[in-house]
Amino acid sequence: VTFLKGSVSMSTLPPPDRGEVAFIGRSNVGKSSLVNMICNRKALAYTSKRPGKTREFNFFSVNDKVDIMKEVKYGDEVRGVKDFDCFYIVDLPGFGFAKVSREQKDEWSKFQKEYFESRKNLRVVFHLIDSRHGLVSEDERIMKECSEIFKGKKDVSYVIILTKADKNDSTGRGKVSKTVMESVRNAMRENGVGSRPIITTSAETKYGRDGVWTYLKEAFNG
Ligand code: GDP
Repeated sequence: VTFLKGSVSMSTLPPPDRGEVAFIGRSNVGKSSLVNMICNRKALAYTSKRPGKTREFNFFSVNDKVDIMKEVKYGDEVRGVKDFDCFYIVDLPGFGFAKVSREQKDEWSKFQKEYFESRKNLRVVFHLIDSRHGLVSEDERIMKECSEIFKGKKDVSYVIILTKADKNDSTGRGKVSKTVMESVRNAMRENGVGSRPIITTSAETKYGRDGVWTYLKEAFNG
């Protein structure tokens, strides 16, 4: 896995020649740690924390050297793309920053919406939520937006990941309180997201790594 580039506009995204999976969540939710965990790397996604990078869409290229082509349907369009072995991970800017102007926030959310709406090779959007707290208001907003955008897109899976599960107990088994689980399920129901599985993870104990990979494999090969 290598860091490819940071983008701040639709015109600077890499070409959509392979599948793509995006990670979104509040800042400090554990997004960088989770991306590192699923890639088996220690400091990869901290690239996006470097000065000037925190507000970019940071692209990581997975298995770029593997050059297997297959045909995949994007809506009505059939394209030759590189096989599952090769895809992009996109680390979207963490939301919830206090020290940012209204205009700047509006600009970022416009780009994000445009990206969700029009990125043809997007296959999975993982929305990360802290397993100790459940959804906060910005999460509700993102869930609503994703639900509206992806309702008509069968190619894209919108999946909730609960992070930092090790903090809920000392066994590392990924325990999440019933209250948090129910509130997440309720929010999914209210927003028409449906009864999808919720993946519980811990970057600390690597709990849930297989669950994330299973989802990725299904999304890319299914
Ligand atoms: P990001 O801002 O969403 O990219 O969050 P980071 O990945 O930088 O994590 C924020 C803080 O939470 C850091 O101090 C991490 O060490 C910590 N953290 C992230 N994931 C976990 C986890 O699964 N378990 C525990 N205990 N701490 C975590």
